[in-house]
Amino acid sequence: MFLSDQKMGIYIDYAATTPVDPRVLKAMEPYFNEKYGNTMSLHKQGREAKETLRKSRKTVAALMNAEPNELIFTGSATESNNTVLKGIAYANKNKGKHIIISAIEHNSIIEPARWLEKQGYVITRLPVDKFGLVNLTQLDNAIRKDTILVSIMQANNEIGTIQDIQQIVKICKEKNVYFHSDATQSFGKIPINVHQMNIDLLSVNSHKMYGPKGIGGLYIKKGTKIEPLLHGGGHEFNKRASTVNVAGVVGFAKAARIQQKEMKSDAQKQTILRDKLIDELLTINDSHLNGHPTKRLPNNANFWFAYIEGESLLMHLDMEGISASTGSACSSDSLKASHVLLAIGLKPQEAHGSLRLSIGKYTTKEDIEYVLGVVSKSVERLRKISPFQKGWKQ
Ligand code: PMP
Repeated sequence: MFLSDQKMGIYIDYAATTPVDPRVLKAMEPYFNEKYGNTMSLHKQGREAKETLRKSRKTVAALMNAEPNELIFTGSATESNNTVLKGIAYANKNKGKHIIISAIEHNSIIEPARWLEKQGYVITRLPVDKFGLVNLTQLDNAIRKDTILVSIMQANNEIGTIQDIQQIVKICKEKNVYFHSDATQSFGKIPINVHQMNIDLLSVNSHKMYGPKGIGGLYIKKGTKIEPLLHGGGHEFNKRASTVNVAGVVGFAKAARIQQKEMKSDAQKQTILRDKLIDELLTINDSHLNGHPTKRLPNNANFWFAYIEGESLLMHLDMEGISASTGSACSSDSLKASHVLLAIGLKPQEAHGSLRLSIGKYTTKEDIEYVLGVVSKSVERLRKISPFQKGWKQ
């Protein structure tokens, strides 16, 4: 046995996904085989489903301070992001074909942008500084006459850096360009107010905030010119065809209602645990924090440890019952260094020594103590057998 005889099951990968809150599960249950109506049906069950959808939309919209009819439900944040990039590109091609994204966006922005590039659109990928922040002057200079969309995430999924969305929107609005933010990681964790911030489009999902998987949301400000991704029936104000996932919508709404009440206390509690992780793991020699020291999500800690390989560290942690991550769950099966870590200036071998610890509302002080002990010992062990060490020092 490696470190402890007692295997503990500690999940510290809440940025990948979260367990469904038992209160959410309970709220969803009747919608599978009791209240299973289709929102488009004219009969009683249909009307009830439609009313449930109406109420749920209001609740999720309230968490971002949107009008209910400005929020559509989608199947995921990936779908919301694809809808924004392709839908804005198509509907506004007469104005221009230039789109700006940041270099550290999630793949569900990067890949549709790459696809649009093949269709003749021009994509500018804005660099970020060593903390992961977009430079506002660079953004201002990058906007052209033919720019139709700027898409910059509110908080990064790997390093947790929170952008200054208010200032970014200001620049976009001065130049009359649509602004979209992928708020998948931040929704329900830090406040967002789409009206006050003058945001045009916002992507969110439910499974990062203790709701079910397979349900996302997209805020579309009134008057925004956008083409749907899915054509078919007239669901979701003609902006997203397909029978509504009522159970998913109910779960998302319940999760949103809970976060509305608990966001502040969750953030306070998680910030203390996060800072304990950061303070103590930075006492290991040659360990570094990725992301911004203060402008970061309350639940995110991301490090790189010199001379070791993140995948080996993950395996050690896994053997000790700890589920963590090296970066984004969506690209963890590829051996490529994280584009986010490269964008903040890490060398590929440094990026390969990274570890993301993302905590959640079920993380305890005891979990953190255990994780600290196992990570420190594992880093020490791996360094003893590391083939990198010698080469690195040369
Ligand atoms: N954007 C960000 C920032 C994310 O972290 C994720 C999920 N890893 C997504 C989009 C995609 O979300 P979904 O799983 O709902 O497609």
